[in-house]
This record gives sequence, C-alpha cells and structure tokens, in this order.
Amino acid sequence: MDSLWDYPDFDAHELVHFVTDHESGLRAIIAVHSRHLGPAAGGTRFWHYAQSGEAVADALRLSRGMSFKNAMAGLPLGGGKAVILADAGRTKTEAMLAAYGKAIEGLCGAYVTAEDVGISVGDLVEVAKQTRYISGLPVASGRAGGDPGPYTSYGVFLGVKAAVRRKLGRDNLSGLHLAIQGAGSVASGLARQAAAEGARLTIADVDQAKAEALAAETGGTTIAPDAIMTVAADVLSPCALGAILTPESIAALNVPIVAGGANNQLATQAEGDLLRDRDILYAPDYVINAGGIINVGMEYLGEGDEAQVRARIEQIPGRLETIWDESEASGRNAADVADDMARKLIGRG
Ligand code: NAD
Repeated sequence: MDSLWDYPDFDAHELVHFVTDHESGLRAIIAVHSRHLGPAAGGTRFWHYAQSGEAVADALRLSRGMSFKNAMAGLPLGGGKAVILADAGRTKTEAMLAAYGKAIEGLCGAYVTAEDVGISVGDLVEVAKQTRYISGLPVASGRAGGDPGPYTSYGVFLGVKAAVRRKLGRDNLSGLHLAIQGAGSVASGLARQAAAEGARLTIADVDQAKAEALAAETGGTTIAPDAIMTVAADVLSPCALGAILTPESIAALNVPIVAGGANNQLATQAEGDLLRDRDILYAPDYVINAGGIINVGMEYLGEGDEAQVRARIEQIPGRLETIWDESEASGRNAADVADDMARKLIGRG
C-alpha cells in the first residue's frame, strides 16, 4: 500500500485525525467522511485492535456508513466515527476520556460524538466535561436524547412490519414467527414490541442466560447461536453482529425476509445480489436501524421532544418502501439502491 489514500475503505474522507496523548495513553482515530449535510455525527468505539491498521479501516468504513445513515434518516448531519484503540486489558481512565474530549473540541464541531460499542453513557458524561460537540447524554424525561437503543428498536420494529406488509401482505405480526439473533439492547426492544403484537419468537444469543431471560419475558423459545440463521421463520432479524450475510449463510436461509438492527449485515456489497436472487426481501441495515441516531441527532440539534423523535422514526417504513419500489422497478438489489440514494443525498451521486 503506497499511502493512506490507497486504503480499500478510503472513500474521499474529508478528514482523518490521528490522536496521541502521551500522558493518558490515549490513541484514537477520528474520521470525518462527509460534512455535506452538516457536522459529521457518529459514535465512538472503544475496542482492542490486533493491528492499528484495523482501527483505521474501522474508522473509515464506519464513518462512511454514518454519512449514509444520517442522510437517509433525513438529518441535517454529515457522517463521522471515531475509534479509541484500547489495550488488551481494555484499560479506560478518566484522563483518557478527558484527553479524547479535548481532541474532539479541537476539531471545532467538525465531528460530533455519541456512544458506540464499548462506550457507555457514563463515559460520555466524562468526555462532555471537555467538549460541547457530543450527544447521547442523559436527558430530562420527555426530551429528545439519551440511550439510543430503545429508539433503534422502535424503528426496527416498524421496519419489520413494513417488510411483512410488503412481502406477506399482513398488517400486523400476530401469529408470525420471528427469529431474532441477539438478546441485547436492540433485540430486547424489538422482541417486546413484536410479542405484544402476537408474534412467536425464537431467540439466540451467545450469552445463553440473556437469551433465556428475554424468551421468558416474551413467551418465546431459545435456540443455539449457530442455528438461528437457518431457522424456518417468517422473518430473520439480525440484532447482534455484522457481516453475518455471506454466500454460505444466504444459501442456507429459511426465511422470506431479513430485517434487523445490526450494522453492516452484508459481508460484502455483493451479497445484496444473492439475497435478491433468492427472492428474500432485505431491509438495508442503516435505513432500518436509524432510530437511535435520529434520537441523539435531534438531541444534539436541540430539536424537539420524544414525540417528535418518534414521529421522525415513523418515517423509516416509507423510506424502506421507496427503496423496495426502486429495487423492484430496476431489478437492482435493495442495498445498492439505498447506497445510490444516500450518495446522491451527500452530493456524491
Ligand atoms: P448489545 O451489546 O446490547 O447486544 C448485542 C448482543 O449480541 C449481546 O447480547 C451479545 O451477547 C450478542 N451476540 C454477540 N455475538 C453473537 C452471536 N454470534 N450470536 C448471537 N448473539 C450474539 O448491542 P445492541 O446495542 O443491541 O446492538 C446490536 C446491533 O445493533 C449491533 O450490530 C449494533 O452495532 C447495532 N446498532 C445498535 C444501535 C443502538 O442504538 N444500540 C443503533 C444502530 C445499530
């Protein structure tokens, strides 16, 4: 590789900022993909990478994803993402978070952070002592903002219903079978709402106790994590890991619909065609899982209350319909159609 510009995940990012703070031991990468629509917003990931090059790739790929997600959510925000390179013991100190906050402040609003994997609301409270360019903080009841998880779940629930309406001609989930991968924040909210509407659930999590607790609460059953992708069901809802849709896993799917909250579900862009060829309706991940960023984005923009956040999340089904209409009309797969729409919105069509 000759230079950073040759990184496979480099996509004409506006800014890639490398941060080193010797005193606290902080090492971080802040990537701003696009500010075409507004300040680049996206969470901070705290992760141990075997190679620092993997951290660069993650920041580049995830920040591009945020540009697409924010644009498709109709937010006046660009796309950015940051990664903090944790040591093998995942040491996290107040000094490190403070240094990180100063680094964000130094970018004068080019990048706005929030939580992601490994960063809690409590961590953000520390970071917020050093910078105003932050969201996902605790908020007063009824205001926009705070934990994005329940809002992501709400959007995913509405997206699953839209997919069911389109593919199965059903107005609600009553009597339908949902296979849910994961029993964490997003999966739990989805499971509760789907069960309340009468859906039958099969749930898998590598943490069996979590899967069992959620199944007990929602009247569902559990299955081994390696079996969830082949369950015969009406909907598979990936709500755990990325890159789970590979040529092999798609060939073994036993569902007419894949619609879930996990980020980066397709192992590569080519898998979009494989889903289409199997006539499986796919809800592009960054469109269906935008509820959380809508919530923290509106918090940052100082816009509105919880009711307005929910009203905006309720536009997700309409966006999915537009994508599926275009996909049907053009024969192009839904993931490619969504990417093209997002690129146009950020001035890169
Ligand atoms: P979480 O950490 O609360 O839950 C994830 C769950 O997945 C955990 O319980 C974990 O044990 C389980 N898991 C890990 N590997 C698994 C496997 N191989 N099989 C089955 N289960 C497995 O995380 P979350 O906030 O619920 O996020 C879930 C997904 O949704 C992630 O891909 C995340 O990036 C995405 N997402 C989350 C939000 C949000 O607001 N929280 C927003 C957008 C996208």
